[in-house]
Amino acid sequence: MQYIKNYINGELVEPVSKKYLDNVDPSRGKVYSYIPDSDEQDVELAIAAANAAFPAWSITPKDVRSKYLLKIADLIEKNLDKLALAESIDNGKPLKLAKTVDIPRAAANFHFYGTGILHYAAYTHSMEDTAINYTLRQPVGVAGCISPWNLPLYLFTWKIAPAIAAGCTVVAKPSEVTPMTAYLLSELCVEAGLPKGVLNIVHGLGGKVGNAIVSSKNVPLISFTGGTKTGAHIASIAAPMFKKLSLELGGKNPNIIFADCDYDKMMATTLHSSFSNQGQICLCGSRIFVERSIYEKFKKDFVEQTKKLVVGAPLEEKTRIGAVVSQPHMEKVLSYVELAKQEGGTVLCGGKRANVGGEFSEGYYIEPTIIEGLPYNCRTNQEEIFGPVVTIMPFNKEEEVLMWANSTIYGLASTVWTQDLTKAHRVAQNIHAGIVWINCWLLRDLRTPFGGVKSSGVGREGGFEAFDFFTEPKNVCIKIN
Ligand code: NDP
Repeated sequence: MQYIKNYINGELVEPVSKKYLDNVDPSRGKVYSYIPDSDEQDVELAIAAANAAFPAWSITPKDVRSKYLLKIADLIEKNLDKLALAESIDNGKPLKLAKTVDIPRAAANFHFYGTGILHYAAYTHSMEDTAINYTLRQPVGVAGCISPWNLPLYLFTWKIAPAIAAGCTVVAKPSEVTPMTAYLLSELCVEAGLPKGVLNIVHGLGGKVGNAIVSSKNVPLISFTGGTKTGAHIASIAAPMFKKLSLELGGKNPNIIFADCDYDKMMATTLHSSFSNQGQICLCGSRIFVERSIYEKFKKDFVEQTKKLVVGAPLEEKTRIGAVVSQPHMEKVLSYVELAKQEGGTVLCGGKRANVGGEFSEGYYIEPTIIEGLPYNCRTNQEEIFGPVVTIMPFNKEEEVLMWANSTIYGLASTVWTQDLTKAHRVAQNIHAGIVWINCWLLRDLRTPFGGVKSSGVGREGGFEAFDFFTEPKNVCIKIN
């Protein structure tokens, strides 16, 4: 069986302790490789390598840094099939999704930031004939990048690419649950000839490796994507050390459907926004609010279409719903279905573990689930479930649905379906979320700021704001008279 390695100082190395953790294929419920159970010693080595590489990397000309990023983007594209297969096995997601979304977007991250850095400019401010101010943007230093399991390579590269483009060096930790594509990325970085120490990847547990990165006085910046609880813990360590911090956290996103929407487009997209990646995308719409006049039709059609989504082995072409990422996660998601029933909800379809048979009979599959009859403020409608489980509710008035939509502690993303332009803009303005999609979902222009409000996070990544985050502004004021 394969042993994954850490990537430290340009080399693929074993963990100092020589200890490993099981890496489980969730589609079969079986161990299929081993991941370093790294600890503080490995993190120290990675930080030392990143620190040593920083002075040279931070003054490496932008166009040279850019070339490395573009080379890595190119290698990801060339290895699309291999990476997609690895991600599908590691994560349980349908191969098709990995091939068409996750891996191409990982390449796009390197391509976007590799070219974006060439156009990133700083400001000057003239004080007429007295002085000129100019703002230097200098890379912060060693960036700690920690990412989750749901879109493993995509979210990992979303942090790493702007960091190294901006001139930071990086110590990164992928989720211990889905380490394989990060490992393959480290092989590609070796192939690309990325100078040693610029990117270091330490595998292992959040409580050990993640914690050591966050706690280190030699890592002045943390970019974290993951759960809100973990984010709060990280902030409690990082804030007293005055680290720069970006937290991309959980969500409980509303999908608001008005009666005047383009019904067929809405239905097709709502199936995606509800169940893509088994509902394990932070941007999935898990609370679906439907204007009462079309509610019964919507309910009938949505249930009918959802029942047609094939739950199956991730590598099968016809599979639309693969395995959820782990047994504990499956149990957590199913416990929410039980909670929903206790809270008075009716399960319209799904609600159970699915057995897809054969060698996959031990895999962690959940039927796509639709629940109705719950009030907006019950736990099922307030807490993040992060699985293929959605609730549907009829609404009468715009003010009412806005209140429901904004009622959670989260504010990551939202979707609005209407053909009425004025209403669309008005509702978008009044939703408390970092992103509002109107008549679409998951469309991303990488130039736009990305992130949530309230407990969905602080700071923004994306576009040039990512370069702002990974650099420090320094104002220089020159007296000219
Ligand atoms: P977690 O918060 O459990 O973990 C995220 C990462 O943090 C993992 O690499 C984890 O390691 C690590 N970690 C855990 N504990 C610590 C610690 N004490 N110190 C430092 N690092 C630690 O999230 P999940 O992996 O379960 O991901 C799902 C969550 O991510 C959902 O809430 C989802 O909404 C959110 N998310 C948010 C996105 C956004 O852009 N806002 C995008 C995608 C997901 P380990 O795996 O070893 O536990």
